[in-house]
Amino acid sequence: MTAKTLRISAQALLYLGNCSAKRVAHYGRPALERSPPVRLYYESAKSARDSSGSARTVDLRSDTVTKPGPAMRQAMAIAEVGDDVFGEDPTVNDLQRRAADIFGMEAALFVPSGTMSNLIAVMVHCRERGDELIVGDLSHLHVYEQGGSAQLAGVHSTTVTNLPDGTFDLGQLESKIRHGYPDAHYPRSRLVCVENTHNILGGRVLPLSFLQELRCVADRYSLAVHMDGARVMNAAVALGVSPPAILRHCHTVSVCLSKGLGAPVGTVLGGPQDFIQRAVRARKALGGGMRQAGILAAAGRIALTDMVDRLEEDHRHAKIFAQALLECDPPLFQVDMAAVETNIVRFRLRDPLLTPTEFCERMAAVAEDEARALGQGVRVLMFPHVGASIRAVWNLGVTEEDTQSAILKLRYVIQQYAKERHRAC
Ligand SMILES: *Cc1c(COP(=O)(O)O)cnc(C)c1O
Repeated sequence: MTAKTLRISAQALLYLGNCSAKRVAHYGRPALERSPPVRLYYESAKSARDSSGSARTVDLRSDTVTKPGPAMRQAMAIAEVGDDVFGEDPTVNDLQRRAADIFGMEAALFVPSGTMSNLIAVMVHCRERGDELIVGDLSHLHVYEQGGSAQLAGVHSTTVTNLPDGTFDLGQLESKIRHGYPDAHYPRSRLVCVENTHNILGGRVLPLSFLQELRCVADRYSLAVHMDGARVMNAAVALGVSPPAILRHCHTVSVCLSKGLGAPVGTVLGGPQDFIQRAVRARKALGGGMRQAGILAAAGRIALTDMVDRLEEDHRHAKIFAQALLECDPPLFQVDMAAVETNIVRFRLRDPLLTPTEFCERMAAVAEDEARALGQGVRVLMFPHVGASIRAVWNLGVTEEDTQSAILKLRYVIQQYAKERHRAC
């Protein structure tokens, strides 16, 4: 990111912060999801890097910030390896076999990232020039992957409107299918992509009934269904079902090992045997053929086999925090408890004078008398998010005690803010 674009995004945020008419317009609008994403979303917070003495840091920016623990590092150190481009890395092969079993799919492929995994899926499903994919307008694949499916795969996308629960209207989906094909005017609808859990919409779990009905529509029109299941293990845990109970409705799935599951790197792409054979070729063309990747797969194997059950903890901590938001006095926060299904909490501020950016800055800063008030300085890191909301994400680096500290900090921040407002009046 250049200095210029940084300045522009900072200005955009300042604009939101200074124009009260704009703020009031944002406040209380129900369909806030439709406003443009906040740019800071994927920038690292500066405050995460500077240390401030003995303050406790509670990092809720993302579930990607986790670091591998001793067991994972040990497994990486002793992993058996080989040249995976020759198919000779035993640890990678074992991870892929286990992943396929866990997903209830024929085969799986270890790839460097979720972004590459989704792109490979698009490339393999949409092989003919003029193929098109249908995707939710607030999906990661559409919003946060630089348009890779157009840029690199040459595949056109059309969108359906994501509803607040991460689903979309199946009537709208049907209307987006190119019924006119093979008339020369139309691309050919080939693929529909869903996201589970839904990231931008706050970790929402797609209902099994939706997936089942979606698959019926897809089958009727010979569309493939790909699930961006970066956090599908969170969905399985939240629903209390096995992953295949979800994934049987999809042809292929992409599962991140480096989100809540805590591996340092990697995603697994699952699907039928012939799909995975083609995926190996696409991965190589994209520069994702890795050699002694068993070092990474060893961490991924632990992520997939040992780390799924603990996601429950993240979900519990997220709910504790959301409940505390709701009970805050003065009632500054707006949060839909029913929407807090997994490890992500999205909330809004009811005071139009306090912007999400300023609130996040106050949560991340350690005030001078804070240690006296709280017993310890606490910096809580989270990001302003889509639709004038704020997003907080629980992960294995955040304990229940950290969550309680974050709640204390929250109360401290709003009390300080209320005092300042009172003085200003
Ligand atoms: C993180 C994420 C991805 C991309 O994964 P990377 O490994 O960061 O490329 C894709 N989809 C969803 C829903 C995600 O949350």
